[in-house]
Amino acid sequence: MAILPIRTFGDPVLRTPAAPVETIDDAVRKLVDDMIETMYDAPGVGLAAPQIGVSRRVAVFDAQDGLGPRVMINPELVETSGTWEFEEGCLSVPGHFWPITRPGFARVRALDVTGAIVEYAGDELLGRVLQHELDHLDGVLLLDRLPRRERKQALARLRDEALGLTVDE
Ligand code: ZN
Repeated sequence: MAILPIRTFGDPVLRTPAAPVETIDDAVRKLVDDMIETMYDAPGVGLAAPQIGVSRRVAVFDAQDGLGPRVMINPELVETSGTWEFEEGCLSVPGHFWPITRPGFARVRALDVTGAIVEYAGDELLGRVLQHELDHLDGVLLLDRLPRRERKQALARLRDEALGLTVDE
């Protein structure tokens, strides 16, 4: 296993819709192992393959529910309901958190590393992680889920930060 560098905001791979996995082979299983190690090292509750520069529809998460790391290959969002505001962050936009409203409940269908169909469903943190990681596979970042005005402010702040115009608060 290996800890891989995490791509950050501005890297085009984060804006590229990822391609489906055609065959779940040893290379995919190694990718999953590396992603789990990288996620825990960060530390984070989820990681999608584009975040380590691999444009494939693979994500891992640990919703801190005692069930350990779980894997989603070619996941699809099959159901959402309700709304929930949560102070959301992203390993690719380090040091920033924004209150983001999304459906509270989410259900995802995916393949695991054996190729079996798995379903993950839940609300609160689990529902949020599922939606956040699926967004990554479509090239969508949490900023895109902010209302227009807040999004503009967040982008301006990130730009200033990249130019060295701000210091940590
Ligand atoms: Zn993220």
